[in-house]
Amino acid sequence: MSPDSIAPPQPTGENVLEVSGLAKSFGGTRVLRAVDLTLRPGRVVCLIGPSGSGKTTVLRSLNGLETPDGGMLQAPAADLDIDFSRPLADATRNRLRDLSAMVFQQHNLFPHLTVLQNVIEGPVRVQRRPRAEVIDEARALLARVGLEARSDAYPAQLSGGQQQRVGIVRALALKPTLLLFDEPTSALDPELVGDVLSVMKDLADEGWTMVVVTHELAFARDVADEVLFLDDGVVLERGAPDRIFTAPREERTRRFLERLM
Ligand code: ADP
Repeated sequence: MSPDSIAPPQPTGENVLEVSGLAKSFGGTRVLRAVDLTLRPGRVVCLIGPSGSGKTTVLRSLNGLETPDGGMLQAPAADLDIDFSRPLADATRNRLRDLSAMVFQQHNLFPHLTVLQNVIEGPVRVQRRPRAEVIDEARALLARVGLEARSDAYPAQLSGGQQQRVGIVRALALKPTLLLFDEPTSALDPELVGDVLSVMKDLADEGWTMVVVTHELAFARDVADEVLFLDDGVVLERGAPDRIFTAPREERTRRFLERLM
């Protein structure tokens, strides 16, 4: 993919996002305890860890889909400085939502809308941008992932991998600062995984800032700048992928990696 109509935001030198002490409970159960995360522009952070360790809750918190009960979040370019121990104003939550776009495990496309309609829905209806301009951008983005010819198809007429590529295009069309991926390939047949990972690698190479929850360790090793191993709501270990994968310091990390590799 070559950058054309929608390129990643130009780096300003500031961190895209800084999160510290992120905490979240559901009922009486603490699922996140003091999670720290710093995203420099153009960097890719992969979150790995056992099921239930809190990876999705971190992503959903970054996107304003969950409200943490403690911790700080700063995104200087979006003028966001949030203390989650205080009530979150609607305007602040909306700016937090605008900062990022999420690609889900299941693509969540609207079944009754065509591919093109799915992609333009958010930019036109939510962001209220001019329809003709959004359609041009959407077509260009679909071409970049090889789906130009499927603009008028319905999601059910596409393969799982194609649906997920539309999910990625739909996120890009929102022109976010940050892309969040929640196990985007885990619901796909194995032979379809590679296409989606290759689109994600292209986005990383183009300079998008990304947080990726994944069990695809080869992808994390190849693409991530930093890997965070979450266990029971805490970042047990973090570091460069080569170090984490070849010389994990924590016994739990080692055991997790042995199971998956
Ligand atoms: P992961 O992505 O690492 O599998 P999650 O963030 O999805 O972990 O979940 C962490 C824990 O929080 C799990 O025990 C899960 O059951 C619980 N949890 C997540 N969302 C909710 C919710 N909306 N209500 C209650 N418990 C939840």
